[in-house]
Parts: sequence; structure tokens; C-alpha cells
Amino acid sequence: MYKGPFVCTGCALLCDDIAAEIQDNRIIRVDTACRKGVSRIKGCSSPMSCMVNGKAVDIDTAIKEAAMILKSSKHPLIFGHGNCTLETQKKTIELARKIYAHIDDTSSFCQGPLIEAILNEKLPTCTLEEVRHKADVVIFWGADPSNSHPRHLSMYSYFPRGKERQRGWEEDRTAITIDIRKSDTAALCGDKFYEIPINGDSEFINALFSALSNKVPKTSFNMDPKKILELANILKKSDFGVIFAGLGMVYSLDSLEPLLRLINKLNETSKFYLIPMVGQYNMRGFDHTLFKETGYINRVYFGREKIEHGPQHSIIELINNNVVDAALIIGSDPLASLPGEIAKKLANVPLITIDPCNNLTSQRSKVTISSALSGVECAGTAIRMDGVEVTLKQIIETDRFSDEQIIKQIMGKI
Ligand code: SF4
Repeated sequence: MYKGPFVCTGCALLCDDIAAEIQDNRIIRVDTACRKGVSRIKGCSSPMSCMVNGKAVDIDTAIKEAAMILKSSKHPLIFGHGNCTLETQKKTIELARKIYAHIDDTSSFCQGPLIEAILNEKLPTCTLEEVRHKADVVIFWGADPSNSHPRHLSMYSYFPRGKERQRGWEEDRTAITIDIRKSDTAALCGDKFYEIPINGDSEFINALFSALSNKVPKTSFNMDPKKILELANILKKSDFGVIFAGLGMVYSLDSLEPLLRLINKLNETSKFYLIPMVGQYNMRGFDHTLFKETGYINRVYFGREKIEHGPQHSIIELINNNVVDAALIIGSDPLASLPGEIAKKLANVPLITIDPCNNLTSQRSKVTISSALSGVECAGTAIRMDGVEVTLKQIIETDRFSDEQIIKQIMGKI
């Protein structure tokens, strides 16, 4: 039987037009989703089991052991949340308050500065629907959505015809890529590809700023000033422009100051917005949730006296300085994404992993607790990459608890 539409949680685009064929509570076919989405919706290739010290246990035993570890820890860390619903994130924040924990997520070493600037209204942003209907210039900066968010260009940013962009990509939209290599997205942009050197983003911004100010742009790398002047002209004439900022840009900039300066300059002559290319489906959701509760998006410590925030409370600094004596990892795989030395140190801390699927972190964990796959086996809400809240539906039944139920049970036992 065909059912839908469902929301795909394969990435932060949260496509909401997914249909699935279900037989005997099994998803046998997924329509509309990209390959990445189909593999997410069809479930884990290696589902996780409940284990304590490498031995299979029932879920109650695993939850009890996790509660004991957290209760006896003096400096616990709760990390992850990118692949969890908003409801789970609210619960993990409640748990962090209860056990005086540090809490952090991957935004701490990726898109965090952009999301923080948006929430503090320093960066103008818009929705993906506005992009579809209004955008005439789209810039993929240090981002390759053709691979990272495979339906981005077809759903919103380039190919669709919008209410005010009836002639679509052929005549009504200009796509530009600024990157260090000719990605698949850059290949679509033809001669509107601007190849910059590694860490050259700030210098390129300065050159573009000069061109926008009617000065001759200069770069230390081999880029024809005429090409930068041509880009400045396109941007000046734009009615509605959007920068999709990827990790390539974020990692290259030491501070957001050049980017803020550029956006302000662009907004002197046209309307320009920025949307961060968030990867995990609800990473932005965690930042919004924590911001609402504490005024900070990540790197928070719920101390006995007061809430603290700062780089010293990031997972990287906490592990590097041997502060943490237990860590609860939920909806994330930090051992696969942190720098090698930090990952090695984290692996030596007693780890509890809550996740539907096996991953590198779960393999090194003292306790693993298997949970339902959100958006497939349980419902909830999430925040899309552009800040829009989306409702996730359940597609099939499961007897596994949701992340939220597991966190509630751990809290009940502490
Ligand atoms: S683009 Fe992202 S949300 Fe959309 S179907 Fe693919 S993985 Fe799922």
C-alpha cells in the first residue's frame, strides 16, 4: 500500500513530498526521495542493539547502567542532537540541567557562527520557498548541494519555476559557485564559477567588496579583475539574491566580519540573504532550542550556581583538557567527525550512545541504547536549514523507544 506524503530526514532540506510503499510494516519502496533519502528511510544497514560492556542486554538494563554512569559523573557531557527531534532536544537540555552537564553539538565546529548571527539578527535570511519564488541570483559558496543536499537545486534554488521567476533557470536565475575546486554544482554554473585558493575566502570577499565599491579588485591569486567586476555587476543588478554558505566558507573565515560587511554592502543596492547549508536534519533545531532556553546556541555548561558559555565548553576543548569524565552521545557520531587526536581521547571516556544505527562511536561505547529512527519509526518536529519548523510523521510501527522516551527514562532513574 502506498502512503504519504512523509518528510525525509536524510538531510536538513527535510523534503516533505515523500511517498512510500509499505507491506507488512516494511518499507519496500520509496518514491521522490534522492538516493541519500531512500537509504535513510529504508533504515540502518547495521541496526544498533542494547549493550553494556560489549554484552547484549535488555533495554531496561542499558538505561539503568546509563543512568548510573551519568549520576556518578562529576563532569558529564551531552553531545550530538543533530539527528534528533526537537522534542528529544528539549529533554536532553532538561537532563543537562538536572545533572549539571556540559552540552554541545556539531555546530560548535561547523555552521554555528552563521546560525548564531542569524538568531541575533546580524545576518538577513529568508525561507527556501522565497528562494523558489523570488531569487534571481543564487550563490553556492563553499557548498556543493548536488552532492550534500541532492534535491536542493531541483526543489528550491535553481531549476524550479517560481511565482516571480516563471522563466526558471534558463532565463530568470543566475547560479554562481565560489569554491576551491570545480564541484558538480560548479560545473552547472558554467563560466559563473569562481575558483579561489584554500583559505582564500576572506581575500576574495575583500576583492568583491572593492568591485562593488567601483574600485579595481586585487587578489594575490591569479583571478582576472574583470571577472570579479562582472560578478559585482550581476550582484548589483539582482532583485533577490541568496548566498548558500557551506562548510568550505565557514572553515576558511577566521571571523564573520568580512562576510557581514559584504552582505551589508550588497544590501545597499539589492536584497541579499544567507542560508547556512546545514547537514544533519535537525542541527539547526538544537541551536534554536538551546538559544531559546539559554541565549546561546552551543557550548553551554549548566553549573550548580549559573549557566556558563564559551569556547572552553566546546566538545573539543573539554576533551582536549581532560575535563569530561562521562559522555552521552545522541544522534551523532563524533568519533567519525572529530580530529583524530580528540577522537582518541574521547574514546577513552565512558561513553553512552543512543542511536538507531551502529556507528564508530557506538562501537567504542560502554553502553549502547537502540532507539527508533525519527521520521520513520517515530514522529516529531524539526527545523529545516532555513529555520522553518517541519512536522515529521511516523511511517511504520516499531517496538523500539524514541530518543525522547529513552532520555525520559534515564532521567527517571537518576
Ligand atoms: S535532499 Fe535531503 S531531505 Fe531531500 S530526499 Fe534527499 S536526503 Fe532527503
